[in-house]
Amino acid sequence: MGGKRAFRVGLQTRRTEETSMSSYADFYRRSIDDRDAFWAEQARLIDWQTPPQTICDYSKPPFAKWFVGGTTNLCHNAVDRHLKDRAEQPALIFVSTETDQEKVYTFRELHAEVQRMAAVLKDLGVGKGDRVLIYMPMIAEAAFAMLACVRIGALHSVVFGGFASGSLATRIEDAEPKVIVSADAGSRGGKAVPYKPLLDEAIRLSKHKPGAVLLVDRGLVPMTLEAGRDRLWAAERDKHLNTQVPCEWVDATHPSYTLYTSGTTGKPKGVQRDTGGYAVALAASMKHIYDGRPGETYFSTSDIGWVVGHSYIIYGPLIGGMATIMYEGLPTRPDGGIWWQLVEKYKVTVMFSAPTAVRVLKKQDPALLSKYDLSSLRTLFLAGEPLDEPTAQWISGALNKPIIDNYWQTETGWPILTVCNGVEPTPTKFGSPGKAVYGYNVKLLDDQTGAELTGANQKGVVAIEGPLPPGCMQTVWRDDARFLNTYWSSVPNKLVYSTFDWGIRDEDGYYFILGRTDDVINVAGHRLGTREIEEAVASHPNIAEVAVVGVADQLKGQVAMAFAVLKDASILGDEAALLKLEGEVMKLVDGSLGAVARPARVRFVHTLPKTRSGKLLRRAVQAVCEGRDPGDLTTMEDPTALQQIKDMVGGKA
Ligand code: AMP
Repeated sequence: MGGKRAFRVGLQTRRTEETSMSSYADFYRRSIDDRDAFWAEQARLIDWQTPPQTICDYSKPPFAKWFVGGTTNLCHNAVDRHLKDRAEQPALIFVSTETDQEKVYTFRELHAEVQRMAAVLKDLGVGKGDRVLIYMPMIAEAAFAMLACVRIGALHSVVFGGFASGSLATRIEDAEPKVIVSADAGSRGGKAVPYKPLLDEAIRLSKHKPGAVLLVDRGLVPMTLEAGRDRLWAAERDKHLNTQVPCEWVDATHPSYTLYTSGTTGKPKGVQRDTGGYAVALAASMKHIYDGRPGETYFSTSDIGWVVGHSYIIYGPLIGGMATIMYEGLPTRPDGGIWWQLVEKYKVTVMFSAPTAVRVLKKQDPALLSKYDLSSLRTLFLAGEPLDEPTAQWISGALNKPIIDNYWQTETGWPILTVCNGVEPTPTKFGSPGKAVYGYNVKLLDDQTGAELTGANQKGVVAIEGPLPPGCMQTVWRDDARFLNTYWSSVPNKLVYSTFDWGIRDEDGYYFILGRTDDVINVAGHRLGTREIEEAVASHPNIAEVAVVGVADQLKGQVAMAFAVLKDASILGDEAALLKLEGEVMKLVDGSLGAVARPARVRFVHTLPKTRSGKLLRRAVQAVCEGRDPGDLTTMEDPTALQQIKDMVGGKA
């Protein structure tokens, strides 16, 4: 890095002065101590219609407004601005091993498709500030829809395709979309997974009804269309083959999207992201963290339903002028070499995945890794869940490439902790995602007093002092109070953002994440609220009460385990009846939240362990399931409750 680089300001190309490689410590310090100058410089990495007047307005903490006065557009930065230099280069590479399709869209073709989608959305009444809910499999049309929304100033709200009607209905009600974009079906392991019936049911459940539903018919399963509401993408697209839809220049603070994430209550939060801050944060991360260069290929194996999919399948790589691979399929089909085959074929330089996926690949034939030419690949980034040492060691040895752990959250949109090799090559330490990333004023705080823990190896809550850097959530959609009360009020005596993770920092400034401080669990890199799962389980007519805990799992990191008390306890002891009931409950969770939230087991108990004041002792249940000491139980109401669970799981659930 270093040397001469072309930056663009106000749609004009300008050269900056020679930048020389600085030490990461200096770079980081400047991002905190000289915040505005630092981010003003980063802001040059994107195109602005009007340059910002104020870099950060933090006059109403904790609400940060970045790049105030600036106008820009995410789609312009991701697509249009590259037409000048790389119109015929690949932009979106769609690969489906489910339907055996592979299609490369150049920037010019992507530009055309996005405009068609934007024209159709406009026809359906979508305008600036309106919401469009996207419930889609990993197909190119999903990317067109996201980019089309931000092109016209509408907000997209992507809901992961693995979620079922109940989850979808909650999100439709909260986002109140004018239009929903969906498809007949997804596909998993070669088997079609119908989306349309789930969507119809979700719309039926939701108090809010969308004006129109735009459907991509993949020909996977038959669809019944609702007259007056449902439209087919192919037919609508045909009307707009040559329609030009210019980018709507929006304020930097204009929301670009909402993305729902689970918390400790049953109701998911709509994480709201801005436009200018997000574009700058992603552009900067492509340079300083991922070291992805224009014209190269980025491969993130995530899904557009998650934050990684937003930031590093769609926006980050495209803003950086890179081609991005959108992959529909399993990592093991047709065989465990498929990802590496794609790396070879498309000369992937930057790859992004999750530890669970690596653990899945570890079970495959190791020869598959050496079968392909991986010389293009510079780095594999892993994120979303703790990266355990055996997994990191294995993949690092097998690939013989640097493996870099990223720690972040849906809320932040880009990494909080990692090593920034684009700034200065920095060694990694197994078990640590790395150091605080520039822009994040990370602190470890005592959860009881709020006091900062400055010494090495002290355990505290990982917190971020405001303002959160560009790209992080602005607020909870339509609920500023929830933003304040959830994230900024949990540490006593301090207005500070809590990540709800425990961590320690060693003498070299490397952080180690030790797990959540709340009841959120992480299954295969997917964040799930135990409360949501409990609500789904408790909707069975024979369930009186239930506790769901996350239990350590070799493959998925954690799995959900449910312990339920029956209304009609007469079947306790009747193994066949209990097994049937367990199946019914699991089906109920599948139907309401989706299979992703299904507990590994539902066990039936006579009572749940609680304190004398009635508080559920989840941590004790979790400890017992993991064969650990449950700790101090003096406040427990009925010790036999925990004993029953212990006997049931025998130290292992
Ligand atoms: P999500 O918003 O779904 O990405 O989940 C964010 C949560 O996942 C964090 O608060 C952590 O608990 C966990 N997490 C994400 N990345 C890492 C990582 N690299 N190491 C440890 N935990 C992680």
